[in-house]
This record gives sequence, structure tokens and C-alpha cells, in this order.
Amino acid sequence: MHSMNGRGARGATLHVFGAAPSHATAEVEPLNLGGRLARSLGILLACWAAAIVSIFIPVAHFFLVPGFLVLGVVLAVVRGRDRERLLRLHGLCPRCRREQEFVQSGRQGGELWVNCPGCFNRLSVTIERSASRTTPTVPGPLTSIGTRR
Ligand SMILES: [Zn+2]
Repeated sequence: MHSMNGRGARGATLHVFGAAPSHATAEVEPLNLGGRLARSLGILLACWAAAIVSIFIPVAHFFLVPGFLVLGVVLAVVRGRDRERLLRLHGLCPRCRREQEFVQSGRQGGELWVNCPGCFNRLSVTIERSASRTTPTVPGPLTSIGTRR
């Protein structure tokens, strides 16, 4: 039995348009090669099963069948690239300033997105890469620059 060392809490930052980013804690689970392959294979089989079902739909099967076949491969590749899986995200919503658990809504363009259950805003998540404890200096709001009147 392996130990549970793989899981860990990481610092994360939540961004939303028009508000200052806020800090959050992300619990991630690293995916080993086997887990990544299983996830890729799972989505591939799901899409190919949909392709098989589509064979029986008249007319639409002309584009549905090849569509699902290609989609399966594309999604499998995208999923296979995920090195880790977000288990939980806890932090302050940059919009409504409520501290809560966030639900992952998906990935888009290499970015991770969550939905705030409080204000229904879509937040972009940045998870710190390294597992080390060194917190980079967060650029705070520029204070007292150009206060001359
Ligand atoms: Zn919110």
C-alpha cells in the first residue's frame, strides 16, 4: 500500500474580471501515468460508444459518427495532458468576498475555471506550480504612488 503522500494543498489565486485577485487553497491529487491513461481511455470509449449509437440515426450519422470518433481522440489527448486533478478548492471569492468551497466547472484554453456558488461568477484559477512552501511575493495594491494633488 502506498502512502497518501501524493495529495497536497497548494496555494492558489482566484481571478475575476474587475476585482482584485484573492487567495485560495487548492487540494490536488497528482495523476500517475496509469491514472492518466485510464481517464483518457474512459473519455475515448464514451465518445466512441456515442459514435456507435449514432450509426443508427438516419442522415445525422454522416457527421455524428466521424464527429464523435474525432472528438474522442481530441478529448483523450486533452485529458492525458492533465498532470493533476483538482479535488477541492477553498478560498475567498474575489467578487462577493465570501469564503467557501468552489466547484470546478472545467478547463478552457489551458486554464482552470470554477463557479462561485454565491454570486454565480466564473472565476479563473491559478494554482502554484511548485509544492514548496515558498510563497511568491504577491504584488499588493500600489499604495501612495502619485498622491500629489
Ligand atoms: Zn462569489
